[in-house]
Amino acid sequence: MTRPSDPQAVDLSQLTRISLDTDHPICQVCGQPLHEGDDITAYAYRAAGEPAYAIGYVMCGSDTHEHPTVFTRGVREYVLTGHIGTCSNTHTQSTTYVLHDPTAVVTSPTTTAEPQIHPDAPTPRDPTQPARQEPTPLLTAVREHARSDGGSPHEGSE
Ligand SMILES: [Zn+2]
Repeated sequence: MTRPSDPQAVDLSQLTRISLDTDHPICQVCGQPLHEGDDITAYAYRAAGEPAYAIGYVMCGSDTHEHPTVFTRGVREYVLTGHIGTCSNTHTQSTTYVLHDPTAVVTSPTTTAEPQIHPDAPTPRDPTQPARQEPTPLLTAVREHARSDGGSPHEGSE
């Protein structure tokens, strides 16, 4: 049985030239600086509902380090080998590091039959994920302060 369109091939086309999202790529495991043309292993993921993949971390070499193979349910994940390339941005005159020639070495289970996803599931998938949120008490305090201070013109209880 042949599949008309290989979802992995589609994903790989998305993952080609994906930004490594760092100005100074280093190996997540040993800290070695990585340069253009180097072989790298990258962990990419795409959470449910997200339009594109993001790089979680990169490692030096071609799948030479051991890497965590913890996969998150509901998240499409790849461990990829490839090379570091650069992409110049003429607007900002900066250079973006991108992944060239990605090859999937590990793929998360394709079964995402369970739509139940914990939004704050503790996963090690992205150490740089901006997951900070305003603590609710502060938010509530701000809101209440604004209310008592600005007042609502309707009530006029004083
Ligand atoms: Zn390394």
